[in-house]
Amino acid sequence: MISPKYFREIPQRYRLEASRCKECGTIHFPPRLICNKCKSQEFETVKLSDSGKLATYTVIRVAPSKFSQETPYAIGIVELNDGVKLTAQIVETDLDKLQIGQNVKLVFRRIQDDGKAGIHCYGYKAVVS
Ligand SMILES: [Zn+2]
Repeated sequence: MISPKYFREIPQRYRLEASRCKECGTIHFPPRLICNKCKSQEFETVKLSDSGKLATYTVIRVAPSKFSQETPYAIGIVELNDGVKLTAQIVETDLDKLQIGQNVKLVFRRIQDDGKAGIHCYGYKAVVS
């Protein structure tokens, strides 16, 4: 069952929206209510860069049951050009050729389905660019 949290996170999942602190300029993703650097509560919405580098990754061979049909697959930490780090599945690539430091780009893809007749959930995944 897809939780209401999924719907609340659509601006981040679909449009890579983050919040930038108006006091110190720190970008928070996902957005926060209070800046963890300066405690300010004043933010503006910014759209993150969709390009960055692969900071690290791992190949999943034994997955949770929901994703067991997709094994093996890679999950990585991507450092975007604006410094934000996020976790994403790395798709459409030869897993044996992945390298830390590779240029990657975030793309919009289906993440999972909520049952046979349920809703489709979308979000970002990373491809080697
Ligand atoms: Zn701040």
